[in-house]
Amino acid sequence: MQNKVLIANRGEIAVRIIRACKELGIPCVAIYSKADQDSLHVKFADDAICVGEAKNSDSYLNMNNIISAAIASGCNAIHPGYGFLSENMKFVQIVERCNLKFIGPSSEAISQLGNKLMAKEMAKQAKIPVIEGSDGALENVKQGLNICGKIGYPVLIKAVNGGGGKGIFLVNNEFEFAKAFETASMEAQANFGDKSLYVEKYIESPHHIEVQILGDSAGNIVYLGERDCSAQRRNQKLIEESPSPFVNEVLRRTLGNASVRLAKLVKYEGAGTVEFMVDKQGNYYFLEMNPRIQVEHPVTEFVTGIDIVKEQLKIAFGQNLSFKQNDIKIKGHSIECRINAEDPLNNFCPCPGEIKNLVMPGGNGVRIDSHIYSSYVIPPYYDSLLAKLIVFGNTRKEAIKKMRCALEEFVMDGIKNNVEFLYIIMHNSDFVKGTYDTNLIKKILDYNENQKMIKIINENKG
Ligand code: ADP
Ligand code: ADP
Ligand code: MG
Repeated sequence: MQNKVLIANRGEIAVRIIRACKELGIPCVAIYSKADQDSLHVKFADDAICVGEAKNSDSYLNMNNIISAAIASGCNAIHPGYGFLSENMKFVQIVERCNLKFIGPSSEAISQLGNKLMAKEMAKQAKIPVIEGSDGALENVKQGLNICGKIGYPVLIKAVNGGGGKGIFLVNNEFEFAKAFETASMEAQANFGDKSLYVEKYIESPHHIEVQILGDSAGNIVYLGERDCSAQRRNQKLIEESPSPFVNEVLRRTLGNASVRLAKLVKYEGAGTVEFMVDKQGNYYFLEMNPRIQVEHPVTEFVTGIDIVKEQLKIAFGQNLSFKQNDIKIKGHSIECRINAEDPLNNFCPCPGEIKNLVMPGGNGVRIDSHIYSSYVIPPYYDSLLAKLIVFGNTRKEAIKKMRCALEEFVMDGIKNNVEFLYIIMHNSDFVKGTYDTNLIKKILDYNENQKMIKIINENKG
């Protein structure tokens, strides 16, 4: 039987997966909602099936329609991309029961890693340090207060099934706890369909370092170095790079080996990422595992020369990894900027609308992954990510210079976007020195706020 893949996603990642299928000669079918019929993934795939109305629950989260689309179009495998159903255990189980191949780990592995508390338990078993906090989901405010009294403030309240930076609340003292708990639980229910929460000690000024792994069905598991994703806004990544300017050879190997231990423990198959918080002193703690392809995978592809999505497909169709840990060499430096339809001056509020004029950069070592084009209308229903701009340089300095040039070339009229803001970060001294942590963007915004205040005060004085 010939392999054929249904791509259960939209946007840039659907386009990315279609390209990998085409290179491998595997026919592929796109799905789309009524709001997405003009998106590039619909045009690029061999076939495309509308699975419902614009709303996520009617289309990209509509399991029945997606499975029916796969079967009706003769697909034998489903690639879930990221977000949507990619970490949904029930969906993976249905896919497996329909004798379709889920391109990712087994439902068994997802049940152990998909929820953050379970994943923390597995990390402990794999002898990886975890952040101090509640062992299980919080039953009520009183229990939460008790635990925080022991671990000490500040703490974070987090959604057990959270993702995309949503559902994370900072609590500075016991007086703030009850209100934060209530808001967090409502938001978790609204965003993730599950209101369970847990608490974790807040680590001051940490670095977000994550390790890309690949595992095949024969149990071979390797790590492809790390990515630094400390440049975040609202606890979501904006800029990612590999290698991390903060990580030395010893830490790289330690985090890599820890990630492989965890993956082996759950017989992990496919591509996955183990995320860590690393504090100023270099102490590392397991944060979560994302059992799927990640947005920022291209920076790893640039520095290792390995096409991670093609590897996902090959692994899913029974091929073993063609390289061992010793074959993986990190060369040069890569940076990714997430180009979003959002307003950096208004708390990064999403700004959908029509893209009037679009010129995307190019050149040696410049890559764009995107689903947009001139006159494309951004629907208001989905994530604000429009394009990923990824550059490669022989050194970090060269990569930063290349990113600045590429951002200068970027023209996108008609909608508010973050291109200028990214350009500012590429000139920020902490970023340029490589000494930044997860507070980088907050500091830049505070600085701008302060400058504005100083200007107003001076004008009033004048
Ligand atoms: P990554 O983890 O790949 O670096 P993000 O955290 O930005 O990227 O997530 C990518 C997309 O997937 C976003 O649209 C985000 O909202 C969505 N997403 C991530 N995790 C979840 C989850 N647990 N539930 C629902 N959506 C998620
Ligand atoms: P998501 O599933 O939304 O990606 P994560 O648990 O991976 O959520 O956390 C996202 C980001 O939130 C981290 O990269 C970090 O910046 C911040 N964060 C999460 N937990 C902590 C913590 N315990 N201390 C400090 N920052 C944290
Ligand atoms: Mg995360």
